[in-house]
Amino acid sequence: MQVPSTELATRVNALTHRLSERLRDLRFEHANNVSLFTRLTAHLGIIALVLIGLLLSGIELRARAMPRNYDEPTKVTDNVPVIDLDRVTQPSDIILSAVPLTAPSKKERREVTRYAVKPGDNVSVIAARFGVTPDSVIWANSTLENNPDALTVGQELFVPPVSGVLHQVAKGETITSVAARFKADPAAIFNDPFNQTIHDFKSSPPILIPGQFIMVPGGSKPIVVRQVTYNKTTPGNAIKGTSNFQWPTAACVSQFYWGRHPGVDLANSQGTAVVAADGGFVEYVGWDGSGYGNMILINHGNGAITRYAHLSAFAVSSGTSVSKGQLIGRIGSTGRSTGPHLHFELIVNGVHRNPVQILQGKTPRNCSR
Ligand SMILES: [Zn+2]
Repeated sequence: MQVPSTELATRVNALTHRLSERLRDLRFEHANNVSLFTRLTAHLGIIALVLIGLLLSGIELRARAMPRNYDEPTKVTDNVPVIDLDRVTQPSDIILSAVPLTAPSKKERREVTRYAVKPGDNVSVIAARFGVTPDSVIWANSTLENNPDALTVGQELFVPPVSGVLHQVAKGETITSVAARFKADPAAIFNDPFNQTIHDFKSSPPILIPGQFIMVPGGSKPIVVRQVTYNKTTPGNAIKGTSNFQWPTAACVSQFYWGRHPGVDLANSQGTAVVAADGGFVEYVGWDGSGYGNMILINHGNGAITRYAHLSAFAVSSGTSVSKGQLIGRIGSTGRSTGPHLHFELIVNGVHRNPVQILQGKTPRNCSR
């Protein structure tokens, strides 16, 4: 948008120019003994010009004080409902929820939403869709607590109204005890509109209804570290890793590494080749009942192991060596999975590491929804 003062300056410049021209004319006329009357007329003319100029500038300034150009981005205030595009474009996502199709802003969601898992979903994308942290989704669903990947299409999840712990009240619990248990502020629990509609906060002290949900905003549960058991030693003749890891498949990242998702999900169509991220000894090839489905574990002989889960086919057998980049299997959706992808983990000395920070080469594009 043009700054008003710029236009004003242009006008003043033009005016000054005309003024100086008129003065030059006057001096010329004076030098040629032009009559007093003519000079007076000239002076009046200049005054009139100045007045007109000022008047126009005034109009201009008033015009600028009017509402701005519509092309300019308008600031959204808290009073204006924010349309969540994700939810507007995918209204069918909310299959079991009481949320109307014209989804209110995330701030306005006041109830626990029941959500049916759709193909391709993972905890991160579900959480993002509802504007809460992934942990909050896991904490609200006990089946996910030990394995956030344990999702199946159609599975029903609770999604809390805000980030924090959604807790089912047990007999004898109070706001204070619940706050202490989940390391949260009792005032936040008391002030939460969802809790106020469900529990009896008008009594003194407030009464929690056993069996009902209570939202603990800002609360948390401790992370249960998943132990990875594997043989620390490999046969002497096994291939050892280079410690430089490559991306194990050509895909996009449908879920990144985060606190409770100890790997990356690499999505591509069923049957896409999966290769060894580094050379090593194939320690396990087979079914995993905890949700990984068809899984391969490779021990790289240097403290590092890699896991390849949800495979549709195996190209190696356990007890053999593989070299870096060698085909070991194919992408699938076996085990607890919502669509074809490779769940890949890198564990160094028993600790899960973020593959994005360690794998060489460009990180595949993000295709999480
Ligand atoms: Zn995963």
